[in-house]
Amino acid sequence: NQQILLARRPQGAPVAEDFRLVETPIPDPGPGDVLVQHRFISLDPYQRGRMDDVKSYSAPVAIGGVMECGAVGQVAASSDARFREGDWVLGGFGWQSYSVRPAKSLIAIDPDEAPPSTALGVLGMPGLTAWVGLEDIGQPKAGEMLVVSAASGAVGQVAGQLGKIRGAKVVGIAGGAEKCAFVKDTLGFDAAIDHRGNLDAQLDAACPDGIDVYWENVGGAVQAAVFPRFRDFGRMVMCGMISQYNTAPGAAAAGAPPGPNLGPVVRKRLRIQGFIVSDTGWPRYGQFRKEMLGHIKAGRIKWREDVAHGLANAPAAFMGMLEGQNFGKQLVALD
Ligand code: NDP
Repeated sequence: NQQILLARRPQGAPVAEDFRLVETPIPDPGPGDVLVQHRFISLDPYQRGRMDDVKSYSAPVAIGGVMECGAVGQVAASSDARFREGDWVLGGFGWQSYSVRPAKSLIAIDPDEAPPSTALGVLGMPGLTAWVGLEDIGQPKAGEMLVVSAASGAVGQVAGQLGKIRGAKVVGIAGGAEKCAFVKDTLGFDAAIDHRGNLDAQLDAACPDGIDVYWENVGGAVQAAVFPRFRDFGRMVMCGMISQYNTAPGAAAAGAPPGPNLGPVVRKRLRIQGFIVSDTGWPRYGQFRKEMLGHIKAGRIKWREDVAHGLANAPAAFMGMLEGQNFGKQLVALD
């Protein structure tokens, strides 16, 4: 069993030495357990937070512990009648090639409904995040202006497309011409903005009447440019601020622009709300999945995955994702 352990806590951006690849015996399933061979593991920005020993909504990974993640795999051996060899399952299996889990903790996946990897992306936690955040906080109405940052990524691509389905005008912000072309031409957003260019000028052109809903994935310079453009009664869905994840908690990122002046929150009656998908998302997973499968079958939702190969390449893929090198939902296939 190959495993990637957290060797030490990263100082700033993670480096290869923060991780250690080890070989351990494949574990045996006890009564009621299932041995799962992982096929895809999910790399997600929240895993950077798990590397820091700070108080959060979830405990950090211990030094020497297996890095946490969601994964999909196939049952290799089962001591429970609910699962047979070959069945596809989803669970929090970690950066490793096999794991043993209680059968009752696994979610079965039907590979005929959609490719199993989608259970980690468009039909999984990132898709659910987009759905919950729009349903509960963003609530874009027909004709309103929705701006989505990290728009080509796992959460952003779904948030923007669900906004279009609700009838909003949707502008995506992404890094580079290729991602912007994908956001506009493939995902069907109304416009795409390259955050490496002049944000103010591009936002003025794309959102001349201001912004009703901002889906925040990145923070930093993008947030500073978007914020003054809110219309009255705007909503800011605080999903994440990836540009700051390598910064010590509470510190300002090196070279970051001063944050936006939040004063207009009052004058404009803005609503800024953070959320964690696990708070209210998973109990509604069935409803989400049914709706999304409908959209996918009707061709209303597209998605893009970025697949690295081999567990040994997970740290590099993770480090790249924090710098925008991923193009779509970042996965690692354990071929
Ligand atoms: P993505 O697939 O969007 O990958 C991360 C992307 O962030 C990169 O590709 C890059 O895109 C962008 N990025 C990185 N650094 C910067 C920067 N300095 N400035 C601007 N953009 C940057 O990841 P996810 O879709 O999985 O996650 C998106 C956000 O959602 C994260 O903040 C994450 O923490 C959050 N999240 C929150 C959840 C919740 O429950 N609240 C659940 C899941 C995710 P580009 O090249 O376009 O810049």
